[in-house]
Amino acid sequence: MKIFSGIQPSGVVHLGNYLGAMKNWAKLQAENETIFCIVDYHAITVNYPKEELPQRIISAAKDVLASGIDPEKSTLFLQSDVKEHTELAWLLNTITTMGELTRMTQYKEKAAKNEERVGLFDYPVLMAADILLYKAEGVPVGEDQVQHVELTRDLARRFNTKFGQIFPEPKALLTEAKRVGSLSGEGKMSKSDAVNTYVALTDDPETIRQKIAGATTDDGHQSEISPATLNLINLYGEFVGTEEANKFLEQRKAGTIKYSEFKPLFAEAIIKELEPFQKRRDEITDEEVKKILASGAEKLRPFAQETIKEVKEKMGLVI
Ligand code: ADP
Repeated sequence: MKIFSGIQPSGVVHLGNYLGAMKNWAKLQAENETIFCIVDYHAITVNYPKEELPQRIISAAKDVLASGIDPEKSTLFLQSDVKEHTELAWLLNTITTMGELTRMTQYKEKAAKNEERVGLFDYPVLMAADILLYKAEGVPVGEDQVQHVELTRDLARRFNTKFGQIFPEPKALLTEAKRVGSLSGEGKMSKSDAVNTYVALTDDPETIRQKIAGATTDDGHQSEISPATLNLINLYGEFVGTEEANKFLEQRKAGTIKYSEFKPLFAEAIIKELEPFQKRRDEITDEEVKKILASGAEKLRPFAQETIKEVKEKMGLVI
């Protein structure tokens, strides 16, 4: 299967990104043709510090590489290095309705926190272009992106019907941890929330211990287990296996759980999982990243150009 996915260079990559998407990427690269993208044109749809963006791009690429993406097996590149992404986005804009984009929940959430910008509104069409440009069939993402992948399918189908068959209809590929909750117990883990609500992949052990110690739980006794507590126990299971995590679930149900015992174990499990990742990450140089991204874009450009050529022909734009 041909696989495409992306991550925004928006400062920090957290456990939600890692468990919800990136961990899956590394698994998929063994048996599929995999393309991964640092989506800088998506990251600029909300306010960002421009002097930090170059380093954020490098940092996101290091996170992807350290999570197990091998540039010999997968192609990793920077979205803005292949200009056909924006070209295809424009062409797809012409078959997208306002109603479709108005329904996107991520737009509503982000616009409420930022501004109602045209680029933010059009984000899902650029994402559809990212995927369709390479005729990808599988898109490994977290649950929050499923609606965007559905739109991509709709646009692919509409284009094929209107102008002639070109695009496969891509499917979202979800992991077990398709929605990692925030440590605050409210909403999904997200880097746009306060720093103590997520664990960044680059957090040092002491920071991780503090964040987990401060994570929201219920008081351990009432009959209803709070979603915040359930999220933490499930998350623990991601690191130590469900059987081990279920012991704490049973204790919680019996009203005997001691969070002062559970939380340190949980923190150490995260630290242990992140240790090899952080070691690998420290070994990657900025220069290596730049080379990998440049050769990724170079490799993809001919395919992207070919897709644009086909699309323009089908749309009657070639004389
Ligand atoms: P963010 O949503 O934090 O801004 P991105 O938009 O760069 O991050 O998303 C990168 C990938 O991580 C996407 O596939 C997204 O679905 C996934 N993802 C983000 N947050 C979570 C979460 N809390 N749980 C599971 N997956 C997530």
